[in-house]
Amino acid sequence: MSNIEGKVVVITGASSGIGECSARLLAEKGAKVVIGARRTERLEVLTNEIRSAGGKVEYLKLDVTDRDQMEAFVQFAKEKYGQVDVIVNNAGIMPLSALEALKIEEWNRMIDVNIRGVLHGIAAGLPVMKEQGFGQFINIASIGAYEVSPTAAVYCATKYAVRAITEGLRLEAGNSNIRVTLISPGVTESELADSITDDEARQVMKDYRKISLPASAIANSIVYAIEQPEEVDVNELVIRPARSA
Ligand code: NDP
Repeated sequence: MSNIEGKVVVITGASSGIGECSARLLAEKGAKVVIGARRTERLEVLTNEIRSAGGKVEYLKLDVTDRDQMEAFVQFAKEKYGQVDVIVNNAGIMPLSALEALKIEEWNRMIDVNIRGVLHGIAAGLPVMKEQGFGQFINIASIGAYEVSPTAAVYCATKYAVRAITEGLRLEAGNSNIRVTLISPGVTESELADSITDDEARQVMKDYRKISLPASAIANSIVYAIEQPEEVDVNELVIRPARSA
């Protein structure tokens, strides 16, 4: 039996891209997945697909910027399946632009979704995992958590923050049987670039995305981090395309 079978895996941002692909793969491997995002019609389609294939899944509408909704999402998982083994804090947005464009509303939204969303996931999940005496957080950062590029200052800042928060959580959770994993994808096929409203940034990203990894490359890394024996804590994975742009 794999170390995934029967585990309850909660995934934020599972209506497209990496989250959707991970939900499908984890369910195939016998996890009970609990998926959340704002676009519930997408979650419903995915739920039906996973159930038709014999998998176990529940979904709930979720906006990670709302702490109460995140709390309700984790409690929903606990009510449905009795425990929470893994929380994948995956939801994120990336409306890139140069700082001088002053797209301040987009800066704030990135901070709210990419940083506060992850913190809300930790706030909702940590007490549950502490009480259970086991658990795992998998936070999705980016190669933008290691290097900054033009038009990506705020996005990278949010991902540097996710990296710092995840490392802090790992250090603090060390004695509690709670595993903490940071996964940092390079460019990956998804709907992430659709949130870019700035023409120049959109064009740069369009060219850059030609070398995109399939979402399954990142889903596989999530599987890897979960399926290790419980005494093995995979701390950090960086996954880039083999070719450069
Ligand atoms: P997608 O845009 O395909 O998926 C993002 C997901 O986040 C969607 O399901 C979206 O659902 C959800 N989401 C956005 N805002 C919220 C919110 N407020 N509350 C709940 N869910 C929300 O992109 P990816 O799959 O690529 O992104 C997943 C993660 O991977 C992100 O954290 C991203 O930063 C990271 N990443 C992606 C890379 C790439 O090249 N694709 C590279 C590096 C990192 P909905 O709109 O329905 O709420």
